[in-house]
Amino acid sequence: MIPLEEAVRIVLENTRVLPKENVDFREATGRVLAEDVTSDTDLPPFPRSAVDGFALRTADLESLPCRLSIVGVVPAGSVPSFEIRRGEAAQIMTGAPVPEGADAVQMVERTRVTEGQVEVMETVASGQNIAPRGQEVRVGEIVIGKGVRLDPASVAVAATVGKVDLRVGSRPRVAVIATGDELVEPAVKPNPGQIRNSNGFALVAQARAMGARVSYLGVARDTEASLGELIGRGLGHDVLLISGGVSMGRFDLVEKVLAERGVRILFEAVALKPGKPLVAGVAEDGGMIFGLPGNPVSTMVTFELVVRPTLAKMEGCEQPQRPILSATLKHPLSSRGPRRAFLPGWIEPETTGLAAYPIPSRGSADIVAFAKANSLLIVPEDTENLAAGETVGVYPLDRFLFSESRWHAAHPS
Ligand code: AMP
Ligand code: MG
Repeated sequence: MIPLEEAVRIVLENTRVLPKENVDFREATGRVLAEDVTSDTDLPPFPRSAVDGFALRTADLESLPCRLSIVGVVPAGSVPSFEIRRGEAAQIMTGAPVPEGADAVQMVERTRVTEGQVEVMETVASGQNIAPRGQEVRVGEIVIGKGVRLDPASVAVAATVGKVDLRVGSRPRVAVIATGDELVEPAVKPNPGQIRNSNGFALVAQARAMGARVSYLGVARDTEASLGELIGRGLGHDVLLISGGVSMGRFDLVEKVLAERGVRILFEAVALKPGKPLVAGVAEDGGMIFGLPGNPVSTMVTFELVVRPTLAKMEGCEQPQRPILSATLKHPLSSRGPRRAFLPGWIEPETTGLAAYPIPSRGSADIVAFAKANSLLIVPEDTENLAAGETVGVYPLDRFLFSESRWHAAHPS
C-alpha cells in the first residue's frame, strides 16, 4: 500500500502527453492550450476614450465653467483627421481614438452643448478617461500561456488578438468497463441479489466532463473469459477504466487478466479511504489502465484523485491536480483506521473563509450521500477525530462551483 502522493506521482510519471491538434478558437473551451498565444497588437491599439464625452486640453480648463469650440466628432471605428488646439474640443464616443492634442476626455454628463460650443462644468485631470496605447498589453506579449485549460475568457482573448486557430492537446480516448455478476443495466429491474450498474455510467460521465472521448464497453462477468474479452477491446485506448474486481474476493480477477495481457502493474493498493484497492498499470502501447474499487463512492473518489490528474496531463495541463482548500469544520468529523479519508462534505463561504459541514454517509456504497456533496473533507492519516472549529483540508468537487445546485444547503441534515 502506497501513499496517495506516491500513487499520483507514479501515475503521472508513466502518463504520456498526447499529440497536439488545431481547433477553431470558437470550439476551444475546455481544451488545453499547447502553445503560448501572443498578441499581434498593442492593446488598446490606439489611445482610446473610456467614455462618451469631449476630448480636450486640460490646460484650457483654468476657470470653470469654460467654453470650447467643437471642431469635430469622433465615432468609434473612425480615425480623427484633425488635431485639438487651444480652446477646442471634439465630441468623442466610448472606444474611439482620442485626437492628437487632447490630453483628457470629459464625460458628456459633466458638459452642456450650446451652438457649436461645449460648456465644461467640472474639471478633469490630464490623462483621465484615456487608455493609452499598449496600456493593457504590448505587441508580442504572452496573453494565454501554454498548459492552460481554455475557458470563455480565453476565447475572448483569442478573438482579441486574432488567434483564430489554436494548438491544443488531443482529447484522451477513454474506454469504460464495469465488472460484476451482480450487475444489471439501469433500465432493468434487478432480480434478487442483483443491483444496477452505476459505476460504468459515473465513470463515463466523469471522463466526459473532462472533455474525454469516451466509449462505454459494457459489463464484464466475473470470469477470465468475459473480462478478457472486454479488456481486450479496451486496450488500445489512451485510458481504460475498469470498475470492480480488484479487491481480495475470490472473483476479483481484473489484475490477473491485465497482467496476462501484458499490462505492467504500477501499484495495486493506495492508502486511501475510500479506495484502498486501486490498481494502476501501463499497457504495451503506453495506455494507462485503472482498476478502480467497485464501491460506487470509491470509484468516483479514486477517479477524482488519481484518474483526473492522468487525463489532465495527457491533454497537456500544466497543473493537473486540483488545489486543496482549507475550511473551518462546523461539526465534528471522524474516521476509523490509519488511512487518509476523503469524506463527503458541503463547504460554504462565510465572512472569515470557508465553513465545512460533513454530510452524513453510510460509507463507500452510499452514492446518494456522496451525490449531495460539493467537496471531500480530508481526515489525515492516523487521525480519528477532528473537532468542530478545527481546520480541515478540502478537495473541491465540480459542484462547489455550480452554485446553482445548493441541494444540501437547502436541505441540511
Ligand atoms: P468489487 O470491487 O467488485 O468487489 O465490488 C465492491 C462492491 O461494489 C460490491 O458491493 C459491488 O456490488 C459494488 N459494485 C461493483 N461494481 C459496481 C457497479 N458497476 N455499480 C454499482 N455497484 C458496483
Ligand atoms: Mg465485483
